[in-house]
Amino acid sequence: MSLESNHPVRLSELYREVIMDHYRSPRNKGELPDPTVSIDLNNPTCGDEISLYLLVKDGVVQDARFSGQGCSISQASASMMTQAVKGKTVAEARDMVDRFKRMMHGDEEAGRPLGDAVALHGVSKFPVRIKCALLSWEALERSLEQLPG
Ligand code: ZN
Repeated sequence: MSLESNHPVRLSELYREVIMDHYRSPRNKGELPDPTVSIDLNNPTCGDEISLYLLVKDGVVQDARFSGQGCSISQASASMMTQAVKGKTVAEARDMVDRFKRMMHGDEEAGRPLGDAVALHGVSKFPVRIKCALLSWEALERSLEQLPG
């Protein structure tokens, strides 16, 4: 399922390649054996499924992994999110969720500190795909809310 087959507007070639690279070779894919928190979320409008596993210690996201299936946008976004959030403090991770949401509302600048995930900014032009891109970030947001203590 590619964006370009369904829509006349093209993402830049560079960003499209970054997205497809994460889709084909996802980072941090797999389960964490003993996560501090884990959550399953799905996006029924597209059939995307994400399970997120976080290991949080001393207020820092030590490890983040995901499993799931679905369209290239949802899976690439999860790969980019886990890459971006590893090693960040919980406060920084919350700020990243906020930045990603702002980027999905069209604010490309907000997404600049998000690493490869900024490549998804073009998705903001495709309302039906925004939920695909947001899924893993919403899983991150809910996971952070569920952290003990
Ligand atoms: Zn999707």
